[in-house]
Amino acid sequence: MNTAALPHDEQLQARFGELKPALTAQAAVIEADRCLNCFDAPCTAACPTHIDVPGFIKRIASGNLRGSALRILDANILGASCARVCPVDVLCEGACVMTRQNRKPIQIGLLQRRAMDAFWASGEAVPTSAPGTRKLRVACIGGGPASLACAAELCRNGARATVIERRMLPGGLNTYGVAEYKLRAADSVREVEMIRRLGVEFRCGVEVDSAAALEALEAEFDVIFLGLGLGAMQRLNIPGEDGRGEKGPGEDLPGEDAKGVMNALELIAAYKTGHLRELQGTVVVVGAGNTAIDAANAARRLGAEKVYMLYRRGESEMSAFEFEYEHAKQEGVQFLWHSQPVAIQRDERGRLLLETVQVRQASGKLEAVPDSQASIACDLVVPAIGQSPLMELLKQMRGIEMRDGKIVTDRQTGQTGNSRYFAGGDCVNGGREVVDAVAGGKRAALAMLKVAEVARA
Ligand code: SF4
Repeated sequence: MNTAALPHDEQLQARFGELKPALTAQAAVIEADRCLNCFDAPCTAACPTHIDVPGFIKRIASGNLRGSALRILDANILGASCARVCPVDVLCEGACVMTRQNRKPIQIGLLQRRAMDAFWASGEAVPTSAPGTRKLRVACIGGGPASLACAAELCRNGARATVIERRMLPGGLNTYGVAEYKLRAADSVREVEMIRRLGVEFRCGVEVDSAAALEALEAEFDVIFLGLGLGAMQRLNIPGEDGRGEKGPGEDLPGEDAKGVMNALELIAAYKTGHLRELQGTVVVVGAGNTAIDAANAARRLGAEKVYMLYRRGESEMSAFEFEYEHAKQEGVQFLWHSQPVAIQRDERGRLLLETVQVRQASGKLEAVPDSQASIACDLVVPAIGQSPLMELLKQMRGIEMRDGKIVTDRQTGQTGNSRYFAGGDCVNGGREVVDAVAGGKRAALAMLKVAEVARA
């Protein structure tokens, strides 16, 4: 896998040092010893991939890190990245029985990381049955967590899987879109390499964007899995906007002196791949979701003196998790509530002026407050207002039903209305956590294997 496009410089590491440092060996054992090993553990039920949490923690306590990692990987092949990016407060740790006793929950994410880091350090490959012992061949379109989980599960069970990714590196948001202080792009690529060693084939830099391309895949493969994620972020659609398409490493990303408009995913991908090393002046991020916060924090760490987050609703309505909001405040991000951009102008010196109005609720709708216009002088505007699915490609897929911009699938199997197509991850759930995408990909793989088994009988 060509990782030359990824930066390995000290400046990036210093600016984006990990948010949660790893546990030391001793601290991990002490923490693991606190676990009550609940029967019918609520943490396992709360994890979308149903990792045997007490099982892997017990192995850490007894010093069996390899066994612990294998227990995690059995349920979740992306256990390493999930350990870093899962919102554990609302998943496994949020369900820990300790919280009912007003005690600190077991630090499941950090323990999971401890086991996975040790496994990686050992250089061992994930055990698998002989690849290619089944006839089933599956193409997974999109190289993000859903496709990776689907492909890995198929190969672990003897089928053949090929991941087709339009960018130069697989990993999807794990490689390009998660803030560096949570998950380094290099760690995402290392995890993908582990999956490749299971026998998964990767075709990167290949765009599937036409009926002809789909027909070619249908001719080559038995089943197609759609792990498309979400498409490019939505534009602000206001006068003066200078949006650009989402780009990847080695492509035409803005350099450190770029000015104008760059969406949140572009900004995150740009610094993670070394194409953006510094920002100055004032940055305005439009939106208040988790990706918006990642972009705002990144802007601060890249050197922007002032970073505002502009949101058309109030604090209580923002979609970002509480801990993300607190983190942004600690980073020095300032919030402008009930404010909406209406135009972008440039002054005589070329500096941006973001024109805004105050908005309020009226009869269930947002309306501009009279005489509330204001303008913010800034150097960069970062739209972060959600992502739109790849509608155009999906329209070409026969028998596939779309609802509210998402692909409709059977909840148990991930199968679409077209029996040769399965789907999972953000393009089905509308954009949830990495661990949800992993669960969706794995579920679809198991269903495909079952269908293939029935057909063979
Ligand atoms: S994958 Fe995420 S939700 Fe599941 S146990 Fe690990 S950290 Fe918790």
